Amino acid sequence: MCNPNQYTACVIGGGISGLFTGALLAKNGYKVTILEKNHIIGGGLQSFRRGDALFNSGVQALVGYNENQIVKQTIRYLDNLPLHLMPTSATAQEMIWVDKKHQYCMPRGKSAYLEYLVSQFPQETEGIHQLLDAIYEIGYSYDYIWLKKIQIHPEIIKYSNLSADVLIRQYIKDEMLIKLLEYIGVNVGGGLKTMSALEFSMLLMLYIEGSYRYQGGAVLCANELVNYISKHGGKIINNCEVKKISVADRHIKYVATQNDKKYIADVFVHSASPRLLLQYTQGEIFRKSTKLRIENQISRFSGFAIYLELKEETFPFINSIVFVHKEFNNEYLPDYIYILTPPSLNQGKWAKTMEILVPAPFSNFKKWEQTKVENRGAEYNIMKEAYAEEIINYVSEFYPALKNAIKHKYTATGLTVRDYFGNPDGAIYGQQGLYIPVKTKIDNLFMTGQAVQNQGVCGAVVSSVLTAETILQKSLIDEIAKA
Ligand SMILES: Cc1cc2nc3c(=O)[nH]c(=O)nc-3n(C[C@H](O)[C@H](O)[C@H](O)COP(=O)(O)OP(=O)(O)OC[C@H]3O[C@@H](n4cnc5c(N)ncnc54)[C@H](O)[C@@H]3O)c2cc1C
Repeated sequence: MCNPNQYTACVIGGGISGLFTGALLAKNGYKVTILEKNHIIGGGLQSFRRGDALFNSGVQALVGYNENQIVKQTIRYLDNLPLHLMPTSATAQEMIWVDKKHQYCMPRGKSAYLEYLVSQFPQETEGIHQLLDAIYEIGYSYDYIWLKKIQIHPEIIKYSNLSADVLIRQYIKDEMLIKLLEYIGVNVGGGLKTMSALEFSMLLMLYIEGSYRYQGGAVLCANELVNYISKHGGKIINNCEVKKISVADRHIKYVATQNDKKYIADVFVHSASPRLLLQYTQGEIFRKSTKLRIENQISRFSGFAIYLELKEETFPFINSIVFVHKEFNNEYLPDYIYILTPPSLNQGKWAKTMEILVPAPFSNFKKWEQTKVENRGAEYNIMKEAYAEEIINYVSEFYPALKNAIKHKYTATGLTVRDYFGNPDGAIYGQQGLYIPVKTKIDNLFMTGQAVQNQGVCGAVVSSVLTAETILQKSLIDEIAKA
């Protein structure tokens, strides 16, 4: 029976932060409804099937999942959600090809990482020590990641206005080492000159501490969150795109979807791109300065993805995140291609699939921006085919076995990201790191997601905790830390 005193929450967007916020509210007694525009739940946790092969459309690597880190503890707090995650190789979490002759294998843990870098670049011993100390000092300022209450870190403000390139060059001179460190840009969404020292440090520190991968598809994690919300009396509605939010006296009256259904709730949480929110809500939602930032943020990190189904026993499974250097001549893009062989639930010696993410500016796909999924025309398909071939040839120079291992090939561009995730500019990481406040000017509307905090599962979980505790008006981070 429905409890008439139970508060209700309606979450717009069933991606990572929408599901985590929904689960946290459900655990705390809210009756949660999630409205997701796609027919598959999960946002960045979506997977899709082609024949026998399962591919991840978004996340591949997970950080923040070690002891005393936010993702691990939040999952524990959610009654130990049974997730299928495996650690990347301890001796080669990342495998980085700086060029065809130089490959580096980055080990897990600060001391191993430090020792390894010093062994490869002994002339930079002092600088490497100083750089890693600076990175850890900056990384620790992200209090929620480390389950600490938010404090003021005045010295950190300077790092948000500093580029990763400037930070690194304070300590390191060796161009090969600088080029090597750019790999982290694929996870932040920028080149060394354009990503902030703050985000670079936080991400690099998390990767050094340890990365994980999703076995059997990231969507299994989404399904566990869906089960959790359902078990707590909530419901998830797919194919339910929000088109209008009706506001009166700074209060949401209802949310309407593309099929003209109306939803009411005590609180609403918006987890998709805030630029979308501006499109379907009338009235003032944000402070002027926040609105300006939302409207003017251009995410230049879009991409081209190649999904390969591999022939049986032709290509070995690699338990590392592989980065292959490729010059893109664009300061907004890291000069690396990101390659993974996603693990299955009973992963053996051989890889079943390979996924390749190539950074690319959205302008490469702008010509087709008025077109719709699966109906973008012959010229678009020719462009995709040619680009995929170029990239596969390039990657095969590093992994010669690849050429003859491909059974089927599928591709996606920034337009797919725009249309499936709802990310303006086809941005891989959406409107990330705007640090917009959780509370809006509308008394029952709250924000969550990568615009509130950072990209990726770790950023989305931090934003979910912030949002849930603002709604619940209690220190959820303390409860999570103690779980
Ligand atoms: C190709 C690719 C690779 C990536 N690789 C990684 C990785 O390896 N590791 C990592 O940590 N991160 C990775 N990311 C980034 C990660 O997916 C995002 O940072 C993360 O999904 C952000 O979470 P979110 O909840 O803010 O948004 P999302 O997960 O995108 O969720 C937003 C949800 O809102 C829905 N939505 C949008 N508009 C509406 C509407 N009007 N009505 C209803 N629903 C709506 C969307 O369909 C989506 O489900 C990758 C992203 C891409 C695209």
